Amino acid sequence: MFHVKHTPRILLLNPWITDFAAYNFWIKPLGLLSIGSLLRESGFRATLVDCLNFLIKTNRYCDGKFFKTKIGKPLPLKSIPRNYSQYGIPEEILLKRLSFLEEPDLICVSSGMTYWYPGVFKLIEITKKFFKKAPIILGGIYATLCYEHAQKHSGVDIVFKGRGEFEVLKLISDLTSFKLRTPNSKLRTGELPYPSFDLYPKLDYVCLATTRGCPLRCTYCASHFLTNGFSRRDPIKVVDEIEYWTTRFHVNNIAFYDDALLIETSKHFIPIMKEVLKRGIHCNFHTPNAIHIKEIDKEVAELLFEGGFKAIRLGFETSNKATQIETGGKVGNQEFKEAIKYLKRAGYSGEKMGVYIMIGLPGQRVGEVEESIAFVKEAGVKPILVEYSPIPHTTLFEKAKRMSKFDLENEPLFHNNSILPCQWDGFTLADYKRVKEELRRG
Ligand code: SF4
Repeated sequence: MFHVKHTPRILLLNPWITDFAAYNFWIKPLGLLSIGSLLRESGFRATLVDCLNFLIKTNRYCDGKFFKTKIGKPLPLKSIPRNYSQYGIPEEILLKRLSFLEEPDLICVSSGMTYWYPGVFKLIEITKKFFKKAPIILGGIYATLCYEHAQKHSGVDIVFKGRGEFEVLKLISDLTSFKLRTPNSKLRTGELPYPSFDLYPKLDYVCLATTRGCPLRCTYCASHFLTNGFSRRDPIKVVDEIEYWTTRFHVNNIAFYDDALLIETSKHFIPIMKEVLKRGIHCNFHTPNAIHIKEIDKEVAELLFEGGFKAIRLGFETSNKATQIETGGKVGNQEFKEAIKYLKRAGYSGEKMGVYIMIGLPGQRVGEVEESIAFVKEAGVKPILVEYSPIPHTTLFEKAKRMSKFDLENEPLFHNNSILPCQWDGFTLADYKRVKEELRRG
């Protein structure tokens, strides 16, 4: 603990992505921005440096390409014959920005995918050289899923596990000996203020989380570990927030970050979208996380279309019945066909509907993927391959560790889906390339 005489200055940092490929599907560090707004509401001063806020090209709906800098591959990935890059702000510009900042009293760093940790560590290292005295807290997905790894290797003062924004606030208050001015009502209800998107100099899109967690338990997904339980916000308050961003900041693109936007549609999605239509809000909505196919009926499909969801991403994963059941049974083939029928009737064309197919699950044969692709194509929609990434604390991680030739337990870089971590005789790298190429050619 240390004593700060002035109003404490907190520096919020969102690191680069380091990977073989990356694309900005409406990425924003929502957790970090929520902490930022809580801090400001409690009397702190907050500054944001988001390394990913540096795009070279944006599309009509404000998704786009990051600026990238080719960098050397980390040692464990040396044998992978692909270029490796740092996505986001060029280093010299970052250094300049940091040099203009006032010395912070404390620094919060967020983290994304487990295998992006090199970008996190590099930013921490740079920041430590600039601001020698400020303690650093590291949180986010990597910090939660690979807690011991982060504790051992990140070089920060505190690694924070989980999603508790109010716990982080309390921790920062303790560390700076600053008495919080958070309104008691907020502390009592645990309701978060709107994320600090206003810390960006220019705002093209925002992201929104209307639910937390997911009541399902797919064996490859860590939603249950990252978020304790499942909860959803009041639909009217969700629409208030949508209206706030569209009217006060003239934002036209909003991405839903929910894991379970469509669960129990009558209590959540339907009232939200009816209210959006009632208030005459016009906005492009996006779902970079796939939506639940099982929940799509006539009414939901029509609300998706009329409400402004431009492209639909559906989490199907496989048409193989045994794998569907083994991995959690979130959807079956008949439900998929029904959903597609409703979506088409509502107005979506086949190419506006992307269907995720999981590729490279532990023990999965290439034939299963080929059958799934054929099944999705037959329904007249677009298959999108998603390479399996082994995630710690998921049921499937144990099987992945047994099946993989990589040391998944000790090296998060091997969780990278681009290297096909669970390749085996029944699904080789050559199979993977062939399937991808065939799909590309149509
Ligand atoms: S339905 Fe989606 S979010 Fe929920 S557990 Fe399965 S993969 Fe995760």
